[in-house]
Amino acid sequence: MIFWETITQDISAQTQSSFSIVSSRPVGGGSINSAYRLVGDNQTYFVKYNVANKLTMFEAEAAGLVEIAKADVIKVPKPVCWGISGDSAYIVLEHIEFNPRPGFGSSVVELGRQLAAMHRITQSQYGWHRENTIGSTPQINHFDNSWISFWRDHRLGFQLRLAAENGFAQQLQRKGEKLQDSLAVFYENYVPDASLLHGDLWSGNYAIDAQGKPVIFDPAVYYGDREADIAMTELFGGFPVEFYRAYNENYAMDVGYNSRKTLYNLYHMLNHLNLFGSGYLSQCESMLDRLLSEV
Ligand code: ADP
Repeated sequence: MIFWETITQDISAQTQSSFSIVSSRPVGGGSINSAYRLVGDNQTYFVKYNVANKLTMFEAEAAGLVEIAKADVIKVPKPVCWGISGDSAYIVLEHIEFNPRPGFGSSVVELGRQLAAMHRITQSQYGWHRENTIGSTPQINHFDNSWISFWRDHRLGFQLRLAAENGFAQQLQRKGEKLQDSLAVFYENYVPDASLLHGDLWSGNYAIDAQGKPVIFDPAVYYGDREADIAMTELFGGFPVEFYRAYNENYAMDVGYNSRKTLYNLYHMLNHLNLFGSGYLSQCESMLDRLLSEV
């Protein structure tokens, strides 16, 4: 009870307009947190919560949403407030009414166009000014001038070390080390820009709103190779073909993308291994085998 009181007070304070809950209902579909839709007299909010030590995860999510919103090319939910109540951490976001049966077509074309525009927003170094999480795993964003060392150390290396701590040693580590030592092979004619990335762009993290506008949410923002975002769209189910066509028309992919795609998705697969266990081990190893066959 105190939990919801804290949240309503926080919403009222941040929006400077009194809010009280008329109805609430749980929302499914998330992979990490519990979520609720909170309806007041004339506002609706989306609340996610987890254990109290996840507050920094929510702070980073809010910062990521603000970073994408600043780019002003693609719709994201506005963060309202976040904090701790009792033994829970929470974040409150603008609630967006999603179209449950989107007619995709023009909306995913717009998503492709908008993501291309977002990827044209660049900075000079890879990384970001703060750490965040991928799922609930820490994601390290230390600035680096070299994309190869960024991906080797802060993406593959970090997940491989976690995997070793989780008991996935031997083969996986041996192959992982070999790949880390050979990364330059994948970048012989390619130096990516440091593009603003969503960072966790699987098909569960975009939707079409009631007006037909694409929305992306639940980001793991950093600046890096845009191919990492596109690779992830292909990882769990893929996006509609019109999305890829529109993206390419607006920002053509490099010819070497297909060989790097597995390199980028290996990071997410290792993260699944670390989060959800050995069911993902054989897939990690076969991705490593495929990549090592190219070096
Ligand atoms: P998690 O952090 O647990 O992965 P998500 O951020 O993916 O949770 O949210 C869970 C589900 O809630 C999403 O799949 C989506 O359907 C819905 N959702 C997410 N953000 C909003 C929002 N701002 N407004 C309305 N529904 C949302």
